[in-house]
Formats: sequence, C-alpha cells, structure tokens
Amino acid sequence: MSRTEDGKSKPAGRRAPATAEAEKSLTGIPVSAGIAIGAIFAASEPKLEFKRGRIRADAAEAELTRLDGAVQTSRRQLGKLRARLSVLPEDSQHEIAPLIDAYLQMLGPSRLLRAARRRICDTHVTAETAVMDEVEALAEAIIGVPDDAARPRKMEADDNDSRQRRADEIRETGRRLLRNLTEAAFRSFAAVPQGAILVAETLRPADAALIDPARIAGLAAEEGGTDGHTAIMLRALGVPAVLGVQGLLNLARTGTIAVLDGASGRITFNPSAPTLAEAKQAVAGYARERQRLARFRRLRSETTDHEPVELQGNLELLAELPLIAQSGASGIGLFRTEFLFMNRDTLPDEAAQAETYRTVVEAMDGDTVTIRVLDWGGEKDIDALVARGLVPDTLDHNPALGVRGLRLLLRQPDLFETQLAAILRASRAGPVRVLLPMVTNTGEVRAAREIYERVARRLRRRGDKFSDPLPPLGIMIETPGAALAADALALEVDFFAIGTNDLAMYTLAVDRAATEVADLYDPLHPAVLRLIQFTTEAALRMRKPVSVCGEMAANPRFTPLLLGLGLRSFSMSAAAVPRVKQAVRAVSIDACVRFSRRVMEQSDADRIQALVKEFSG
Ligand code: PEP
Ligand code: MG
Repeated sequence: MSRTEDGKSKPAGRRAPATAEAEKSLTGIPVSAGIAIGAIFAASEPKLEFKRGRIRADAAEAELTRLDGAVQTSRRQLGKLRARLSVLPEDSQHEIAPLIDAYLQMLGPSRLLRAARRRICDTHVTAETAVMDEVEALAEAIIGVPDDAARPRKMEADDNDSRQRRADEIRETGRRLLRNLTEAAFRSFAAVPQGAILVAETLRPADAALIDPARIAGLAAEEGGTDGHTAIMLRALGVPAVLGVQGLLNLARTGTIAVLDGASGRITFNPSAPTLAEAKQAVAGYARERQRLARFRRLRSETTDHEPVELQGNLELLAELPLIAQSGASGIGLFRTEFLFMNRDTLPDEAAQAETYRTVVEAMDGDTVTIRVLDWGGEKDIDALVARGLVPDTLDHNPALGVRGLRLLLRQPDLFETQLAAILRASRAGPVRVLLPMVTNTGEVRAAREIYERVARRLRRRGDKFSDPLPPLGIMIETPGAALAADALALEVDFFAIGTNDLAMYTLAVDRAATEVADLYDPLHPAVLRLIQFTTEAALRMRKPVSVCGEMAANPRFTPLLLGLGLRSFSMSAAAVPRVKQAVRAVSIDACVRFSRRVMEQSDADRIQALVKEFSG
C-alpha cells in the first residue's frame, strides 16, 4: 500500500543543502484532507506497569481464563503482524518472520505458559505475577547457563549472543502478555507540543476522541483504513491525517520537521525549501477553498429542478456541535453515542446521559437529532464495559460477527433501558429519533420496541414528561442481511439510516479499518450499490424515511448517484456539508436518474468508478 521514495530525484538547483538531512517521503492511505507542517511527535505506548498480587484459591480458575484471553489476544496481534510482513522489503521479512514465529511458539503449548499456569494454581498469584515471574526465571536460566571451559572462544561468544536473543524473545512475549492482561492504560496526548504532527503505530477510535484539533497539526499512523472509526473521527475533527503508512516509525523521529498531505496521503520528512514553499501555498489554497464553500451555508439545499435534499450532521463528540451548527446542516442524522462511554472508568448513568443528549437537542434548536443507541463492538472497544464484564469474550471468534450493537443491548437490558430512558428525557427539549445499530432481523426490532415501550411506561409512572407520541424508532441498514430484508424490516420500523461503512465491509468481507485490504474496500462495488438500491426502493414503497449516514454521504462525487437512486437525505461530518450542498445544487434529479441507471447496468466496479469520476468532472 505504501511505498518509500527515498532519494527521489529533484530538479537541478532545487536540492537541499549538503549539510541538511535528505528529504524522504512515505505514502499511506489519505483519510482526512488538509496540509500539516510541523515537528513530528512520536507517541509511544503508555508505560507498562503492574502490581504483584495474590489471589484467593477459589479464584484460580478465573485467573486462568484471564491468562487464556491474553494469550489469544497476543496470538491474534502477532498473526496480524505476520500477515502484514508481505508489504516489507524481502530482507526485512526474512529478519522479522522468524522472530514473530518464535513469539507465536511461546504462546502455544510452551514451557512458559505451562509453568505460568502452574504458578497461578499452586502459589495463588495473579496472572500478571505468574507470567512475569516465570519470564524472569526462564530468561535467567537461559542466560545463566555456565560457560563450557573446553569450548573455543568464538563458539562461546556466538552461544552467548544466541542465549541473550532467546532471553529477549521470552521477555518480549512476557511484555505483550502483560499489556494484554492489564489492558494498558488510556493514552494521553497531554505532552504533545502545540502544532506537532502526531505519529503512532496505531490509534484506536478512543484515542482519536482524545485529540485536540487546535493542538495537533496532523496525524499519521502505521495502521488503519479509509472508513474505520479512527479515520471518521479525524475527518470529523478536521485533522489532516494519513493512515496505513508502512515503515512510518522507522523514519519518523520526534522533532523532525515534516509536511503531511492528508489528500494525497504523502508525508515528507526534512522537507527541502521548495517542498516547504509548495506546502505553504497548499495551506493558503485550503483556506481560500474553505472561504468559498462557506457561502453555501446560507444557500438552500436543492437541485437545479428545486427538489429539496436534507443534509444533516454526524456527531461523535460534543466539541463538534458548533461546527455542525455553523455548517448549515439541518439537524443531526447520526449521533454516535459510543464516544460517551469511552475513555472513562465508569459508565455514564441515566442523568449524565440525559444531560448530554439534552445539550445536543437544545443546540439544534428545533431540528431533529437522531440518537443512535450504543454500538459496541468491532473496533469500538469500550474499556468500562469490558471492566464490568458486560461484554462477551470475543477472543475466540470474529468480533465483527459476534455480539455487536443491538445484539449486546438486548443481552444487557439494563444498559439499553438506561440509555433509552435518558433519550426519552432529552426528548422534552426538542425532536429526537432513536436509531438501533446492527440489526439483522425483525425479531430484534420487535424485542427492542417492547423494551422501548416498557421504559416509556416506567418513566410515565415515575412522572417524567417526554414527547408523546414516542420519538420514532428506526434502524441502521448496515448488513447485507438487513438490506435484503428491508421490505420486511420496513413494516416494523419508523425509518431507515443506511450505514454504508459497515454495509461495504460486510458485503465485501473487507475490514474497513484494515490497512492490508484497504484497496478492496469499495462502496462503489456493484454489490453494495444494489443493496443500497434495494433498501431505498423498499423504504420508498412503504413510505418510510430513508437516509444515508455512512461516509458515502460525505463524498460529493457520490451525491448524483445516490440522488438518482431515490435518496433525499444524507448525514455527514460537518466539514462535508458545504461540499455536498454544492454537488446537490449542481444537478437535476432527471440527470441523476439517467446517470444512476447507467451505473446500475454495470457489473464492474472499475467501470463504475470511471463513470462516477466522469460525471463529477
Ligand atoms: C456505518 O456503518 O456506515 C455507520 C454510519 O455506522 P458506524 O460508522 O458508526 O459503524
Ligand atoms: Mg456501522
């Protein structure tokens, strides 16, 4: 995916001075447009700490289960690392592959794990203590083997080296297990200097939620894909960003000056004077473009033949509220509430949630706010839920196909009821809608509606006032199963919101956040488009409102196609609203319908890409 462009030739007379470090570039996946010029700050993993501890004898079984969980997570991480090796140069592959295999072997039926388990059962210590004690004992035993006086010195030195290597491998395996056992602390970006370009191996959506866009000029990470939640957050925050940059941490040193281009995916270290001048020009160009687009805020969102098109904002963090208000969006089409639950030790209670939802509803001043109930799962890990044992152990199966979204809420009714009660309380302040994530069948919707009505009855008995009739209850269409059952689901719900991010992921069997398969992630694949078409037609037939709230809605190139398929409502990050409005105002519905017919006749994704590009000019 990425390529190194070291030593790229430059035009004569434009070379950097001989004393300066040479300019070097890497390219990754562009996820958030904009130019950042600044010093690199390489964010390291949080410090690894643990307290030695003992357990009660009857807790040994639970401790063994924790250890098994950490072993499986570690194996999965290493498996991912191994799969990514193919993108590295061959000599690096030869160097790293045996190392990963050695770690994997130690995480199999090894002496290390057998002995750690024995320590838990026999000496009643925590899994962390058992692992780290056993790691040290093994490493010492290997290094401490007495030298054989009869052996030649050279052989002895080689032997020492190889023993040291072996001990290092064991210690590294121990550190990995410990990190997974302790579920390493939240990352803090407090030390990042103002205006820095943040560089990391990986950035979880929860980490992205901690970023202060006024402080960080740009961000690059070795892992990540186009429409993963980390990418979505960075776009929402307006932070220029590039993900999936292979080899990034080898080049990026804290303090090095760099230019990051979030539109092309290129990061240039030690930029030459001409590169810097070019980047400064591009910064000015972005500022001019923002000003030009700002005038669309006050213009109506309608096609040239006066068909109104609803443009709403997606909200993750309260910090985005003013941006949504200024963008010209008419309400919020997707409030991702997962972010309320992240980066905290406790779960927000009903009163705290109601307060947050009310703040959002009031800020929208009469425009509708669509609040999606908690969509836990996939990459959206929430430590407070894990700590309370509210979420299942997803280690031995694919978490994207396990207990996600509504599935979790139906298994944890307390969590669900608390959130529904908070949303109902907030509905006093203005119009809201309730959106259910990851629905695949009508039974789930019926079960959810039953709980929704039960909560409403309880609140009424309690004397709480809220909107009557109840706020509409709708569902995300984000799996092929839901899309193909859209006609049946439409009978059960008040509205649909098409989540094209997951819909593309599940249809194409491509992880939306994975770097290795990012080239296969394509919302314009004919299979994805047919599911969108099927869903939209089912909704229109049943006269149920339908919108798109996945990242497809934010791309103005896709607007004519989606309009042609019959969609009239889109929800996107605040920054995208003026661009999409510009696209809406440039087309007629007639032209869009003709165009979408041409597209839907195609069976080749590349041909569709070409048609879309051609239409948008
Ligand atoms: C989607 O899947 O398209 C969607 C909007 O939901 P999320 O990105 O939060 O999974
Ligand atoms: Mg989704």
